Amino acid sequence: MIKDIATPARTRGILDKHGFSFKKSLGQNFLIDTNILHRIADHAEITEETGVIEIGPGIGALTEQLAKRAKKVVAYEIDQRLLPILEDTLSPYPNVKVIHQDILKADVKSVILEEFAECKDIVVAANLPYYVTTPIIMKLLEDRLPLRGIVVMLQKEVADRIAANPSTKDYGSLSIAVQYYTEAKTVMTVPKTVFVPQPNVDSAVIRLLTREKPQVEVDDEDFFFHVVRASFAQRRKTILNNLTHTLPSGKLQKELIEKALEEAGIDPRRRGETLSIKEFAVLSEKLRTML
Ligand code: SAM
Repeated sequence: MIKDIATPARTRGILDKHGFSFKKSLGQNFLIDTNILHRIADHAEITEETGVIEIGPGIGALTEQLAKRAKKVVAYEIDQRLLPILEDTLSPYPNVKVIHQDILKADVKSVILEEFAECKDIVVAANLPYYVTTPIIMKLLEDRLPLRGIVVMLQKEVADRIAANPSTKDYGSLSIAVQYYTEAKTVMTVPKTVFVPQPNVDSAVIRLLTREKPQVEVDDEDFFFHVVRASFAQRRKTILNNLTHTLPSGKLQKELIEKALEEAGIDPRRRGETLSIKEFAVLSEKLRTML
């Protein structure tokens, strides 16, 4: 029987056979521990009826484990040099389709319609390229894809920021953006030793479960996120100061902003990092109608 791709010996064999050299600029840190891969797949709760989207299959270590469980796997890989390798390593798995494309430029919605028509549910599972983690997660969420959830390996520091609660040092506009769409939980921390080459930072796996509808209801999402970002512009400033200096025409409207904060039941001397998502929603609706 052929060994799993993610064993140190088989990975080395595959890399040597194809003369592959890692590109740091593409965030290429490959997993060499099947146990970790099984646990990622477990957290994604994949069944024989699940369609899985993977981002960055590398030499196919995670793809192989996903393919063994799922109905179908579609994997986006940006590095052309990996395509012949994947064709070789994934040849035992006819339910895998590799697409050579930058995920940030991909029309994932159309691919879901074409490839997953017969699947009961769809998840994203990946060991993300760390240089581009946040844009990838935000793209998947903002595209409003019909996903049950997203289970991804990423830098522990980013996982901490995504899953953070108010009044903690990690809480910020990224926590709110992701928690607006999903329930976020860090499910594993992962040592550097399970990768080749080893990354410079600690890693974690985060699970995002899509909410049926966003956590709060706002009439103008762009304005809501604008207010959130403005409130965190300088963490040590009060929310009143941040909004006054960051919102367009804020300086002229300091008194109105103060009134909106008071009507929303928020002390203008509080810092943005102490506000819950619900408080941001109330505040942005007040500001939208007043400014
Ligand atoms: N899944 C493999 C594993 O776990 O061993 C490889 C993971 S490695 C951290 C990230 C992979 O993403 C690399 O194969 C890299 O070439 C690919 N990648 C980097 N940027 C990408 C992008 N914008 N779109 C698609 N794939 C990308």
